[in-house]
Formats: sequence, structure tokens, C-alpha cells
Amino acid sequence: NRRFLLAARPQGLPTAQDFRLDQAAVPVPAEGQVLLRTAYLSLDPYMRTLMEEGGTSYAPGVTLGAPMIGGTVSRVVASRHPQFQVGELVLANAGWQDYALSDGQDLTALGAMAQPSRALGGLGMPAFTAYVGLLDIGQPRPGETVVVAAATGAVGSVVGQIAKLKGARVVGIAGGADKCRYAVETLGFDVCLDRHDPQWAGQLAAACADGIDVYFENVGGEVFDAVLPLLNLGARVPVCGHIADYNRQSLPAGPNRLQLLMATVLQQRIRMQGFIILDHYADRFEAFRRDMGEWIDAGRVIVREDVIDGLENAPEAFIGLLEGRNFGKLVVRVSED
Ligand code: NDP
Repeated sequence: NRRFLLAARPQGLPTAQDFRLDQAAVPVPAEGQVLLRTAYLSLDPYMRTLMEEGGTSYAPGVTLGAPMIGGTVSRVVASRHPQFQVGELVLANAGWQDYALSDGQDLTALGAMAQPSRALGGLGMPAFTAYVGLLDIGQPRPGETVVVAAATGAVGSVVGQIAKLKGARVVGIAGGADKCRYAVETLGFDVCLDRHDPQWAGQLAAACADGIDVYFENVGGEVFDAVLPLLNLGARVPVCGHIADYNRQSLPAGPNRLQLLMATVLQQRIRMQGFIILDHYADRFEAFRRDMGEWIDAGRVIVREDVIDGLENAPEAFIGLLEGRNFGKLVVRVSED
């Protein structure tokens, strides 16, 4: 059983040395347990925050020397659990390893699914995050301007496409010309700006001549600096993530922005609301699964996966995610499904 352990707490951007590939015996299920073999491992930005001592308010940090955690699509390869049969595919939390045990409580049977990795992306957590954050908090109305960064990523690509379905004008921000072309030509965004272009902030102001009504916050940092002065009266800002800060070890250069933030929130009557998707499964997952299933089947929402082969490549792929090298929902194919 190959598994990646957290070898060191990263200083800034993680390096390969922060992970250690370990070999252990394949575990044996006890009564009431199943043995899972990982088919696909999801790599997600939140994993960076869980590499810190203490983790977050919603999940504990990974202990030094323990396996890296993560969502997976896994196959049941041995079962001593009445509800799970050998051979079936499940959504699981097996982490960065070939095999794991589960008592079944955290498993969801996937049934016969055309593309099982989608349970980690377009039909799973990231797309569900886009759905809840945009529709329940952002509440875009026809004709309004919606801005989202990491626009071709797992969450952002779905935010922009749902906003288009709701009749909004969508301006994306992404890293690189290829991603921007894809956002406009394939995903149907109205505009997409390359954050590596030195002129991009000015281009954003020009593209949002009528201001911004919904800013779906995925990244923070310089993108938020450019967005803040453009927010309209009554703008909504679902705060989903701030990946630009996840590797940060010191305050960004420049003036303190807190006063401008407070003044803008006050004067523009802005509603900023953070949310953690774990809170919304009981109420909203069923509606999401139905709507998203229909939209994908009808070709109204396109989901793109960036599939990396081999568990051994997980650390490098994860570091790439934090640097914007992924193009679509990042998953590792650990074994054939
Ligand atoms: P993505 O697939 O979008 O991949 C991350 C992307 O972030 C990169 O490809 C890169 O895109 C962009 N990025 C990286 N660094 C920076 C930077 N310094 N400035 C601007 N953009 C940067 O990941 P996800 O869709 O999975 O996650 C998107 C956000 O949503 C993250 O902040 C994540 O933490 C958050 N999230 C929150 C959840 C919640 O419950 N609140 C649940 C799931 C995700 P590019 O180079 O194209 O700009």
C-alpha cells in the first residue's frame, strides 16, 4: 500500500520534500469494514490549509507523519459490511493512498456512472460549492455583471456557466491566454482576462463599465484589490476561498487595505458571506445533483478534468494546483476504474 505522508509543514509553497512516499501492508478489514482501492484521488486547495498545524475551524490539520487526507472514488475490494458489495464504486475519503479501510459511514455508493471521476468534480464537491455560493448567496439577476477568478477551475468554471444560465453577464479572470480563450469560446463567458497580463486590472475596469453586482471570491489577493473599487451598490460577495493567501508567510506589499474594505462594504451596502460547503449537503445536494445532472447531460454546462496518472505524481500535481498549472478539475488516476 503506497501512501503519501505529511513529512513537514510547508514554508510557503509546498515542496516535494514536504511529502513522503511510504510503503505499508494492505490493511485487512475487520467485521463491519470494507477495504477500498483508490481509483481517483481529488486534489483540492483546502488540502494546503490542512497541512498547517491546527487546520481550520471545519477540519483538523493533518498530523505530521500521517497520511494526507482527500476525497476519492474508490472500489470495494473486500467487504465485511452488509451494505457494500465487492466490485462497487463508492465516493470515499481514502486520502493519498492505494488502499484504505472504512466502516461505511462516510461512503456514498455511486452505482453505474459513465465517468466516475465526475463525482469529485462536475457532479461533486467543487461544482456543488459553485451552485450554493452563486445561487443562494450571490443570487445573480438577469443583466447583472458577475465576476469570478480561477475561471476555468473546478469551482469557477461552474460559477460562470450557471451565471450565464441565469442571464447574467460574466467576466472571468484566469491565468494564461489558453484558459481565457477556453472560458469565452467553450464555456460561454462574455469576457475573460489573463491575470498575468500587466494590464489586466485596467482591462477588468473596462470590461465592467457598469460595475460588478456579484463577485464570487475564489482567490483574494490582487484580484480582490482590483475588484473592490468596482463593486456596485448592493453587490453580493460569496466568500468561497482565497487561494492567493494559502502559501503566504507575510503581509502583501503596499498600503493597509482594511479601511478601504470597510468603507466600501459600508457605503456600497455590500453583502459578503463566507460559506463552507460541508454545511449544505443535507439541504441542497439533492437539488444540485438534479440540476447539474440535467445541465451536463444537455451540454449546457461543460466540465473539464485535468487527469494526472499515478499516485506517485500527486505532490507535484498538487503544487501545480497552487500555482495555477491545472486546467480544469484536478484528479489523480490511481488505478484503473
Ligand atoms: P481550481 O481548480 O480553481 O484551482 C486553483 C486555481 O486557483 C489555479 O488553477 C489558479 O488558476 C488559481 N490561483 C492560484 N493562485 C492564485 C493567485 N495567487 N491569484 C489568483 N488565482 C490563483 O480550484 P478549486 O476550483 O477547487 O478551488 C477554487 C477556490 O474555491 C479555492 O479558493 C478553494 O479553496 C475554494 N473552495 C472553497 C470551498 C468552500 O467550501 N468554501 C469548497 C471548494 C473550494 P489561474 O491560474 O487560472 O488563475
